[in-house]
Amino acid sequence: MQKPDVLIVGAGINGLVAANYLQKSGCNVTMVDRAYRVGGACVSEEMSYGNVTESYALGASVLGLMQDFVFEETGLAHNLDTFVPTHPKLIHFPNDSMVTKIHRDPKDLDQELANKWGEKGDVKGFRYDEGRVIEFLQQGYREACPPTLEAANNKLGKALTNLWITGDAKTLLDHYFTSERSKMYMAMTVSESGPVSLKDPYSAFTLPVMDSGSVFGGYYGHVKGGIWKITETLGRINRELGVKTHLSSQVMEVDSKKGRVLLTSNDEEKYIDFDYLILGTDPLTAHKLVGNDCEIKNAEDKKYLGSSGKLNMMFKNPIQWKDATDLSDTDAAFRFIFGVETLDEFENATLKVTDPNFHYVPGYMQIYCEGGAQRQMQVNESFDRLAVFFKNFALSEKGDELPHIEEEAKQKILQYVNNPEDCIWTRLLTPRDLQSLFYFPGGNIDHTMLTGGQTYFDRNFSTDPENHFYRFGDKENVYLCGAGTYPCGSVAGTPGYMCSQQLLKAIN
Ligand SMILES: Cc1cc2nc3c(=O)[nH]c(=O)nc-3n(C[C@H](O)[C@H](O)[C@H](O)COP(=O)(O)OP(=O)(O)OC[C@H]3O[C@@H](n4cnc5c(N)ncnc54)[C@H](O)[C@@H]3O)c2cc1C
Repeated sequence: MQKPDVLIVGAGINGLVAANYLQKSGCNVTMVDRAYRVGGACVSEEMSYGNVTESYALGASVLGLMQDFVFEETGLAHNLDTFVPTHPKLIHFPNDSMVTKIHRDPKDLDQELANKWGEKGDVKGFRYDEGRVIEFLQQGYREACPPTLEAANNKLGKALTNLWITGDAKTLLDHYFTSERSKMYMAMTVSESGPVSLKDPYSAFTLPVMDSGSVFGGYYGHVKGGIWKITETLGRINRELGVKTHLSSQVMEVDSKKGRVLLTSNDEEKYIDFDYLILGTDPLTAHKLVGNDCEIKNAEDKKYLGSSGKLNMMFKNPIQWKDATDLSDTDAAFRFIFGVETLDEFENATLKVTDPNFHYVPGYMQIYCEGGAQRQMQVNESFDRLAVFFKNFALSEKGDELPHIEEEAKQKILQYVNNPEDCIWTRLLTPRDLQSLFYFPGGNIDHTMLTGGQTYFDRNFSTDPENHFYRFGDKENVYLCGAGTYPCGSVAGTPGYMCSQQLLKAIN
């Protein structure tokens, strides 16, 4: 049998993972991307200070949601070194004199939350039940089969399904926790991608999804050199497997009946033929390329709004944290700074950015100590670096239009540092920047707010999701696997893997 020609539009993590599995399974894979390099939103950028140049993560920073089998089977595991801090995560609330430590050990964690936050709930029960839901999800990932509600009810029972999948995050958190702070800590996940209310149906489901990575057993960690090594390396592995890649090539039109795309490259137009097309782009771009008016309208009606900003920071000497412990990886610990005290304030801040009068409302900051993690992997860089992922931004302004917010955020972090004078460079990116840098329709890193009507079985664009979840509409030769498809965004490649397996099933 002749090898089928598969054309993949978009060389981000999902397109790259799909290409890897398909090429190895006997397809003839070609990739095209409008950007000049592979990687999509998982790429580096350079900054300079004096005559020294240093790379930093422009988009994604930390790895965690990838499945261990994807990491192994693609060949990434054999080509990359990683590091996961075992240090407790360190949490700062406004006006606290003492940091709270999120220990890995459940007994230590119970004790710490009881002492610091007055927690009297069932922390262990939460982790146990979440583990059951995650196991169910991971089985679906491996089998490339997005689970139905019926399957969830059968496997987990009605009570857990209602609480963890169809329910709202507020009810879930009230069920297991008593303290506002524990709930806020857990609630960060819900609003990570966009302004989702804790009371929205299905908002509970974000928690197990975002904890369902297995590359580091549910934890998040770092890649030696920087997370962009994941996409760079996978690009190289794919090339060695025989995948052809056209960069700086934008797909302008798709004719699914004739099986060909029109692309422009260096001001020249050319056609590429395909037997099967996979769109590894955001859903809106995919619909504009392939959909009819009704499908485009449906895609436009989804909510794409994002509310996370990113502050990259460089220091000319290693950061001296005031909250450092005597553990060896203390420089690489994940740190979180809250700007709100109560769950109501948290919820108000999350939702306020949908009001056009607000550009920014402080919520929380997640600090990834990239430079500290690199030192743990014996990489000595010229500058120490931080990536700070923080809330809440409207879609209105670009980062360089908000210098006062950049300065305010910088000062908030530097108050926890003994050598603030060593901070020599910062760059703020807002959802508006993500829109123009990465073509994210609403500046949202998942391309959909994970809420009712947009999550779980609803996150498909197929007319027959039960049998062909990743198929585009009713087109037998077009599939969609970008971050907007189940289960979500992130440097995971799970949609890319699941889509590739469904396509192989259809071909064979
Ligand atoms: C600031 C930021 C921080 C993040 N932090 C993290 C993190 O720490 N950890 C994590 O796991 N995830 C993080 N993410 C999310 C993660 O980076 C994305 O979800 C993931 O990279 C998306 O991968 P993808 O392959 O679906 O799409 P993309 O990476 O968006 O790739 C799509 C590709 O399609 C191409 N394309 C689009 N239209 C066309 C066209 N017409 N013709 C040709 N090519 C086209 C684009 O150029 C792009 O390369 C972050 C994202 C951002 C922006």
